[in-house]
Amino acid sequence: MRLPPMTAAIVLALLSLIAGLLTLRAQDARPAPAPTLRVDGSGFVLDFFFPNLRQGTAGLLRLTGDVQAAQAVFLRQEVPFYRAADGWYGWLVADLDSLAREYPLSLLVLGADGQVRTLETRVLVTSGDYIRQNFVVPSERAYLISPEIERYEYARLSAWMSQTSPVPLWSETGFRAPLDTPLSARFGDFRILNESVQTRHTGSDHGVPVGTPVAAMASGRVVYAGVLDIRGGYVMIDHGWSVFSGYAHLSQVNVRVDDVVQAGQIIGASGNSGRSSGPHLHWEVAVNGEWVDGPSFLSLWLPVR
Ligand SMILES: [Zn+2]
Repeated sequence: MRLPPMTAAIVLALLSLIAGLLTLRAQDARPAPAPTLRVDGSGFVLDFFFPNLRQGTAGLLRLTGDVQAAQAVFLRQEVPFYRAADGWYGWLVADLDSLAREYPLSLLVLGADGQVRTLETRVLVTSGDYIRQNFVVPSERAYLISPEIERYEYARLSAWMSQTSPVPLWSETGFRAPLDTPLSARFGDFRILNESVQTRHTGSDHGVPVGTPVAAMASGRVVYAGVLDIRGGYVMIDHGWSVFSGYAHLSQVNVRVDDVVQAGQIIGASGNSGRSSGPHLHWEVAVNGEWVDGPSFLSLWLPVR
């Protein structure tokens, strides 16, 4: 078929418009930022998506090139890397107890020839400016300030976080806060419980009435739904790639272990259960088994499957 020159021009213009729209859509779904730093290895490239790491935050690394598998060690922790369409991603986490200084990052990369190549670099951890606060646990719950109860509870949480989906379960909408009311207490601060025991605030709080609906931060799979000593009514969700979210002091739990939940799905209602001194929602995010600042995690760019 021969088209008159004018019609052919219009068809071409329309085709290029459609192609442009499709490209825009693809970019919308995956607006990868430029890396803040790129380090060349032997046959591979390591990209950083953060300038430095504040105490209690996570940053994303990407490996591209000749990579069949990879692992890093940072702050004495093993850092797994997960395969995505455009490379291998891993989280670097500065835990709350890390000191503000430079730390070595050691990377092992397995190439197609079966050889393991290494890369040594350094990452700066900066201060989180966390403050000390006194916190009163009501007398009938004061036994819950025991460090042993806290250690036991963390051991259980660690066990639930020891398995994670190797593919990201979050969708293109990523993560959102479980409530849209203002925060009443921020992550990371030192808490002196009843003037005797020091602990850290592992999440963020919203002071809200008992019964306020609580939404899942992102899609994922429920790995715990029940009652804990300190966290009271609690739900923990695996979002894949070693990212977990937790919702504490709930008065009602609407989900069960192994349920697949969607971002924004109501998983329970806020309450005042566990080691709580008033009605509120405590929500927390863990990456590679370490608690990280939830609001700053929500602001991170995340690759999607
Ligand atoms: Zn809290």
